[in-house]
Amino acid sequence: MWQDDPAVAPVTRRTLLASLGLSLTLAGCAAIAPEGPDAATDAATATATPRPYPGAVPPAVPARLPAPDLTRVPVPSGTLSGLPGDGALLAWTVDDGSSSEVVARYARFAADTGIRLTFFVTGSYRAWTDNAEQLRPLVASGQIQLGNHTWSHPDLSTLADSEVTGELSRNHEFLAETFGVDARPYFRPPFGVHDDRVDALAADLGYSVPTTWYGSLSDSGLISEQQVVDFATEWFLPQHIVIGHLNFLPVTNVFPQLRALLYDRRLTCVTLNDVFTSAAHP
Ligand SMILES: [Zn+2]
Repeated sequence: MWQDDPAVAPVTRRTLLASLGLSLTLAGCAAIAPEGPDAATDAATATATPRPYPGAVPPAVPARLPAPDLTRVPVPSGTLSGLPGDGALLAWTVDDGSSSEVVARYARFAADTGIRLTFFVTGSYRAWTDNAEQLRPLVASGQIQLGNHTWSHPDLSTLADSEVTGELSRNHEFLAETFGVDARPYFRPPFGVHDDRVDALAADLGYSVPTTWYGSLSDSGLISEQQVVDFATEWFLPQHIVIGHLNFLPVTNVFPQLRALLYDRRLTCVTLNDVFTSAAHP
């Protein structure tokens, strides 16, 4: 297990992002259409009164979500830890892959619900080849985006230049060969640790966007299902990038509660490529 990923990213750029004045067209995508006679009341109180569901998803939650229809904007340079503008989007990102079963369950969850996710892959884990066949159509459609989380998850700041380049390059090649995608420009430094040297070496490879987070499910190690729900309740917020992990089963046992939370808050999950354009994904 990784001793990484503090709940809040070390560098906060939300204010900067907000000040850039970037905007997204959210018509038809920012919210899941409320249903039923209590919809107006629910919408008005959704963010003020978080209601984590202890049990099954309420019947109003749609069976499957449509792909969002967004006006994409160029990805800003530098570390990315949030989404721009005042929308109701959530970038739910998940890392590592030390458990093949967890990767399989996340993939099934995405296939069943239409929820869009970004996986930051550590290619040395066999989960990625074990589940490649199941993942490929989801990756090909763009519903699941793959980012580069290095080949073997070292603290990049402790490595020689050639080793930093090797970690990112080997993983890049693995993703290209296994899934047919170009993961650039997004890389997530293991443990959230990076510096100017690492960023420059990564940028030379086209990985110009170190992607951190502002909020965590804190499940890089083993925690309880209720703790996962509690962290989601704390951090599933508009325009946040949230980090979770593909390492331990509890999160996969509370998918219905997490979906209900998204619905309750009228949040739409997006990949980074849904929101941003880049050289590799114009
Ligand atoms: Zn990691």
